[in-house]
Amino acid sequence: MKAFISEIFKDCSALSSKGQVADYIPALKNSSIDNLGITIIDTSGEIISYGHHDKKFTIQSISKVVSLLLALEDNGTEKFFSRIGKEASGDPFNSIIKLETSTESKPLNPLINSGAITVTDMIHGNTVEEKFERLIEYFKLITGNEELKINEEVFLSEKETGNRNKAIAFFLKELGVIDSDPLKLLDIYFKQCSIEVTTKDLAKIALLLGNRGLDPISGKQIVNKKYCSICNAYMTICGMYDGSGEFAINIGIPGKSGVGGGILAPVPERYGIGVYGPSLNKKGNSIAGIKLLELLSEEFDFSMY
Ligand code: GLU
Repeated sequence: MKAFISEIFKDCSALSSKGQVADYIPALKNSSIDNLGITIIDTSGEIISYGHHDKKFTIQSISKVVSLLLALEDNGTEKFFSRIGKEASGDPFNSIIKLETSTESKPLNPLINSGAITVTDMIHGNTVEEKFERLIEYFKLITGNEELKINEEVFLSEKETGNRNKAIAFFLKELGVIDSDPLKLLDIYFKQCSIEVTTKDLAKIALLLGNRGLDPISGKQIVNKKYCSICNAYMTICGMYDGSGEFAINIGIPGKSGVGGGILAPVPERYGIGVYGPSLNKKGNSIAGIKLLELLSEEFDFSMY
């Protein structure tokens, strides 16, 4: 597999010049547009890494997968689904429109921002600080990386400029969907998005998700099996923004991307994959990362469908 990656890597990487790094969070503008890295871990623990695989970047929207798992652990499915829907929105991740127009006042899914902010509210803790403490500890548990921390510059940059997320959070409060103070809650949401990871951290999460919460290397059940299935289903229908259908058809596995350039992708019962390429296509997904996954899927028959 490594030989194949080295063969296709240069062509994939060249695509970066056709995309753009996210700039709506000013601190993300500093990312190097031509970076591309990948880590693939198989169920025996063998790791293949290539390119900028150990570069740290902020996890952004991919954090929604982890907060979703913890909110399910904390609340169980009945309570969870009473506050979060099960459908794709077909709108951009930060859209507010469906909250007002749909008959039920609840976010359509946990991967759009309105849903993710609600999910963060559902994490147990007496204070918002306690909620974040529990969340980052959970991140450490499922990545096996005790060193995880937030990138303060990116956090402050989004806190200062994230007016649309502020609008969403206040609207959710007005609808009675969230309990916490909107600005305090957003502090946790912005912090979870600013957690710095490498492709290996993403690959570890993907490996767990692809093995229904069982770490195939240690043999330990780290996450509830059912919650992993729910998470994989959500990733399939809306993990790649409004490019989710295309990802399902072309690559054929669940995936979750973030505007920092990361992609997490489980190949069920085979691999956990983490990709980094900050140059994004028009839908907000890593342009070179998607190509890399497409070619790998074709060659190694990843598709579940
Ligand atoms: N922190 C970002 C936001 O809510 C995450 C966006 C993303 O990666 O999709 O705007």
